[in-house]
Amino acid sequence: MTLATSGLHHVTAIAGDPQRNAEFYLRTLGLRLVKTTVNFDAPDVYHLYYGDEAGRPGMLLTFFPFGSVPPGRHGTGQATTTAFSVSPSSIGWWQQHLRDLGIEVSDIAERDGEEAVTFHDPDGLELALVAHPQGDPRAPWENGIVPAEHGIRGLHSVTLSMASEDGTVGMLEELGLRPAGRSGNRLRFAAGDGGPGALVDVLVNPDEPRGLVAGGTVHHVAWRVPDEATQEQWRAELVERGAQVTAIMDRQYFRSIYFHEPGGTLLEIATDQPGFAADEPLLELGRALKLPPWLEPSREQIEAALPRLSLPAENNPELTEKTAT
Ligand code: ZN
Repeated sequence: MTLATSGLHHVTAIAGDPQRNAEFYLRTLGLRLVKTTVNFDAPDVYHLYYGDEAGRPGMLLTFFPFGSVPPGRHGTGQATTTAFSVSPSSIGWWQQHLRDLGIEVSDIAERDGEEAVTFHDPDGLELALVAHPQGDPRAPWENGIVPAEHGIRGLHSVTLSMASEDGTVGMLEELGLRPAGRSGNRLRFAAGDGGPGALVDVLVNPDEPRGLVAGGTVHHVAWRVPDEATQEQWRAELVERGAQVTAIMDRQYFRSIYFHEPGGTLLEIATDQPGFAADEPLLELGRALKLPPWLEPSREQIEAALPRLSLPAENNPELTEKTAT
């Protein structure tokens, strides 16, 4: 069979303090916290998911906020930049917005028709806001702090930093991504419609030191498949091609398999279904700590071990309305 992902599903990174993490993504970037849960493999740590109103695939940046965590090192063998998509008329607004909040932000750079600014989150994670010349039809989260016309439309792309293009490029092509341009040592690959959310850049830097995944770095990059049947076919195909792939894991809001690409980045293939309304209503997403059924019996111990998280009211629209009246 031919494998063909339609684009990015989510990016997961490592953070320090969960409260600082939530305030940055809600209050500075205007995203919605669409799920408050724990790392299913290590339930003494939160797993926070930020996205649009419903947490649609392709809109999601998620974190394991460890509280106290040594900083990682940006370098080869990892995803170094996570880029969000914004409207072409919003780049200047964002640059000013970030500066007004005291965040160090780059000048506006232009590359192949796209304008971008780069900056870092409080843990040092490298982020970019990129405007695709054709815009982005995806709707932003309208109840956040950022005015809707400037709102983040979802993920734009990730940049994989590599010592060599060998191996990584082959793996991306096996996942159905196709070459979509080259500028210097930057190779772009596109999935699906090739628009924002379906792009990955491979940056080849043989002289850069190898990265270390810890605080302020990306843990893994997940690509979309529509359903479990397709994922099972993918898994069988990847195993046949020699990849070391995990069993299918139930992540409650999607099903996942994981494997490393030859350059070292951990990749995941995640299903679009069932989504974030699987265990709480749309209006209440992110408000309460949700646990999968197999961790529910340990809720008391889990809650006692987690630091308290206090969310801005904007995360839940009916709460905002109540406050306003
Ligand atoms: Zn993941």
